[in-house]
Amino acid sequence: MPLPETLLIIVGDELLGGFTTDVNGALAARRLFEAGYPVRRIEVVGDSVDDIAVAVRRAIDDPHAARVIVSGGIGPTPDDRTHEAVAKALGRDLAEDAAALRRIEAMVARMHAAGWVASPTPSPANRRMARMATGGQILDNRRGMAPPLAVELESPPGRWLFVLPGVPREFEAVLEEVLIPDYFSGSRALTVVESRHPGAVEADFAEPMRLLELEFPDVAVGSYPPQRGRDLIIRLRGEDPERVRAAEQRLGELRAGPDGPASPGAVQRPR
Ligand code: ATP
Ligand code: MG
Repeated sequence: MPLPETLLIIVGDELLGGFTTDVNGALAARRLFEAGYPVRRIEVVGDSVDDIAVAVRRAIDDPHAARVIVSGGIGPTPDDRTHEAVAKALGRDLAEDAAALRRIEAMVARMHAAGWVASPTPSPANRRMARMATGGQILDNRRGMAPPLAVELESPPGRWLFVLPGVPREFEAVLEEVLIPDYFSGSRALTVVESRHPGAVEADFAEPMRLLELEFPDVAVGSYPPQRGRDLIIRLRGEDPERVRAAEQRLGELRAGPDGPASPGAVQRPR
């Protein structure tokens, strides 16, 4: 059985402009790999309703996408357009969600009581964050005001779309505290076996890896050349732990064979 897959859509003009580096995609990729819902694609789009809607439509139309996560653009300012785009992609109305509004009201009241804001009631900008696609359910966001949204998708059923805040500490809290425990359970991470090869020449792995791919089509093998003095890394991934370990052993044999170096790691990197 192939693992359920996740698609990520990361929203923000500041990311496309190179002003900010995406950390949410990297965090989600690592944590969802561990949860057994590996990320198949990360798409970065700007703060445009059409661009976000096209990306969301494409993701939810993919029957292999068990989970779709959209990050960013759900705040109070006019450049936050993700809820509008998601409603458009789903073909649903954009409307003020009563539960979302109650949450925002409660938070503003607490902030007022603490002396942080002048008014005890939400401003129009605060209220704007409660406008979202109909038919979903809001999720907890312990670290911020913008309510995240979960929408169950149809055809095939059992798939979910999530809309999360872009602020990394909020994104992380919702991912760790809500999404992974409640919506990303019941799967198992791929087995990963990693070997390090100090001083090895990457090209020496080309032929052994080609042969390994033929013998082990169920194991993915990747070569990651040394950077800033670190070792070359060979990483094998697969669903069956025994097969992954067998593939690692076979790669060692193939490297030691007629076309490979005499012993693993024995070849010095040319300077
Ligand atoms: P808020 O409700 O707080 O406005 P939001 O969902 O509207 O959240 P954005 O407006 O997209 O989030 O971004 C808020 C801040 O978080 C910005 O400083 C932005 O650069 C940063 N941010 C957003 N997305 C990412 C990301 N993927 N990686 C790193 N920083 C990000
Ligand atoms: Mg914002």
